[in-house]
Amino acid sequence: MNIFVPLFTMHPSQSQETIVALATPPGQGAIAVIRLSGKKAFQILDAVFESKSKKKISEQKTHTLHFGQIKNKESLIDEVLVSVFRAPHSYSGDDTAEISCHGSSYIQQQLLDLFSSHGARLAQPGEFTQRAFLNGKLDLSQAEAVADLVASGSEAEHKLAMQQMRGGYSEEMKQLRDRLIHFASLIELELDFAEEDVQFADREQLTGLIDAISGRIDQLLHSFAMGNVIREGIPVAIAGKPNAGKSTLLNAILREERALVSDIPGTTRDTIEEKVVIDGIPFRFIDTAGIRESTDTVERMGVSRTFEKMAGASVIFYVFDPANEAAGALKHQQEELREKYPAAELKFICNKADLYQEAGLLEKYKDLTGLLILSAKESTHLDLIHNSLHEFVSAQKIDFHSTVITNARHAEALRNTLKALQDVREGITSGLTGDLLSIHLRSALHHLGSITGEIATDDLLKNIFSKFCIGK
Ligand code: GDP
Repeated sequence: MNIFVPLFTMHPSQSQETIVALATPPGQGAIAVIRLSGKKAFQILDAVFESKSKKKISEQKTHTLHFGQIKNKESLIDEVLVSVFRAPHSYSGDDTAEISCHGSSYIQQQLLDLFSSHGARLAQPGEFTQRAFLNGKLDLSQAEAVADLVASGSEAEHKLAMQQMRGGYSEEMKQLRDRLIHFASLIELELDFAEEDVQFADREQLTGLIDAISGRIDQLLHSFAMGNVIREGIPVAIAGKPNAGKSTLLNAILREERALVSDIPGTTRDTIEEKVVIDGIPFRFIDTAGIRESTDTVERMGVSRTFEKMAGASVIFYVFDPANEAAGALKHQQEELREKYPAAELKFICNKADLYQEAGLLEKYKDLTGLLILSAKESTHLDLIHNSLHEFVSAQKIDFHSTVITNARHAEALRNTLKALQDVREGITSGLTGDLLSIHLRSALHHLGSITGEIATDDLLKNIFSKFCIGK
């Protein structure tokens, strides 16, 4: 059995097909870009595009730009610019043309229809990137990073995706795998000499290597928690009694930051969540006021969903209205929350400061630590919120230069690799025979290789690329 052969099947015939798609968002715009890629891309353009220079696209050099007209028989559809990328020097690795046309929906549709009628097929989501992978332009983890990059809505997400796309992480995975392959092949060699009872693979060295790789995988898995937070937004819970001003505060923050706000899909109906980007870092604000219906229980902080949300939060803002809170009770509340959520950064927000003298509030609540005094309704002192989030992030020491795992599939593959490596290690200790050790080693290699696509099945590829947008 050869462990070096990739398991996925290439479809050379697929790249023979020429695909076409709109690369810019559908609808009206200043310009639109249509991508045409595959064996017949230039031939199709020769049939419908007349360049000013009268030269055929199929005769043009790679990385050149051509102005001219696209006609359907005698009828002019548009004046366009055609960019030519010859295989293998294109994004997908196949012959590719990008046609920049005027951004009318009508023109876009006419051009897509025209190219289809000349033999191009409408591309599936992610098909250009899938071809780039199959043509060896990108490995699988880099291809996945392309989707992350397109979807990145904040500086933090952008940095992580960019880093992964440039391949640093792939290179590291490849090196780890190569070192394991070395041992795996030595052990396989032992199997060929089974009768002579020789050991080519030094078990002590192998154990050392497994420990080193396992340690690194542990680190990477640990980084996944941070990667997840960066993708989803750092969770910030806004808690407090009803009418303390939680919703007003959330709205004030959203207004103040004039932030990119997006609805978070999958949000349960009982809490309101908003993603806000502040200083390039995404935060996910969770307004626990959404569960207002069960007022009585909320008042006793007894609703389990509130607890769950708060338990998952990195930062908890506990909002209170001075009219309803005695200093002693609040101090008690603070201690209780700190005990209950030791991992979270806890801030107490004295709201409705517009109704009181600030000095009086300071005096009244002097025993509370981390107190922020503001007015959500008047939007005063909101910078205190901003500053405390900023401080929190600085304290986390998020290092964008080290590898951070953001992809759940990679995390799963790393977990499986770790498990297989532990099996090898235990096998060595218990004197397992070479053939059984090699099964566990192969399993580790399989999982490690699935990250970069050295090992990939058709189903896996389909699953990954179907999540891309069309035209990418
Ligand atoms: P929630 O139940 O905690 O979400 O509280 P709301 O945000 O719905 O606010 C309850 C009431 O307090 C509303 O009538 C708000 O207008 C009022 N309120 C909120 N913040 C302030 C504030 O800073 N000053 C004043 N005077 N009223 C506020």
